[in-house]
Amino acid sequence: MSRRAELAAGLAATQARVAEAARAAGRDPDEITITVVTKFFPAADVRHLADLGVTDVGENRHQEAMAKAADCADLALRWHYIGGLQSNKAAAVAGYADVVESVDRSRLVGGLSRGAVERGRDLDCLVQVSLDPPEQRDGRSGVHPDELMALADSVATAEGLVLRGLMAVAPLGAEPEAAFDELARLAELLRAQHPEATVLSAGMSNDLEAAVSRGATHVRIGRAVLGERP
Ligand SMILES: *Cc1c(COP(=O)(O)O)cnc(C)c1O
Repeated sequence: MSRRAELAAGLAATQARVAEAARAAGRDPDEITITVVTKFFPAADVRHLADLGVTDVGENRHQEAMAKAADCADLALRWHYIGGLQSNKAAAVAGYADVVESVDRSRLVGGLSRGAVERGRDLDCLVQVSLDPPEQRDGRSGVHPDELMALADSVATAEGLVLRGLMAVAPLGAEPEAAFDELARLAELLRAQHPEATVLSAGMSNDLEAAVSRGATHVRIGRAVLGERP
C-alpha cells in the first residue's frame, strides 16, 4: 500500500469513529474537528494529509514544528502547537502557530503576546488544564483547575491573544470518562466568564469516544491516522 493510501485509510477510519461517537452522543459530527498530530512524521505526510482534506495539524516540539510549518507554508493548514512550551520560545512559536493549545502558566502570556504583535496577527490560544489527581500532577503539563480562571483572564486581556477555550489530556492509567466530565464542568465555568471560549480540545487515539461524548469540539489524533511513531 502506498503511504498516501495508508494515510487515507487511517483518516477514514478515524472520521468514522468520530462520526459514530457523535451520533451516539446525539451530536452533529460536523461540530468536531480532527486535528491530526503529525509529530515525528515528515512534511511529506503533512502534504498527503492536506491533499486528503485535513485542515488542522498539531505539533508538540518547537524546532520540528517551525521547520515543518515553513516547509508546508504553501498549504492552507491551521498549525496547532500542542506541546510543552518554554517561556523563552513562546514568541517564536507565535511566529508560525495559528493556535497554541498548551498555555498552562502566566509566564507564557508575555512572550506569546509579543510574538503575535510582531507577526501582526491575532493568535488563538487554549488554556491547558490538568486533569491529573494531585499526586500525579508533578512534571505533567496543565494549569491546576483552581488557577484556570486567573490564567484565562490573563490570556483574554493580552494584546494579540484570543482566548478560544480549553485543552486537556486524560490522566495516565485512569478511565477518561470521569476526567472528561470534570473537563466539561470546567469548560462551562470558563464560558460563564468568557462566552467566546467555546473550543474544547480533548481526546486522542485511545480515548476520542469518551471526549466526544463529553463535548469535545477538537480531537487530537496521531497514531490512529499515521501509525505508530518512528
Ligand atoms: C502526541 C499527542 C497527541 C496524539 O496522540 P495519539 O495517541 O498519537 O493520538 C495528542 N495530544 C497531545 C498533547 C500529544 O502530545
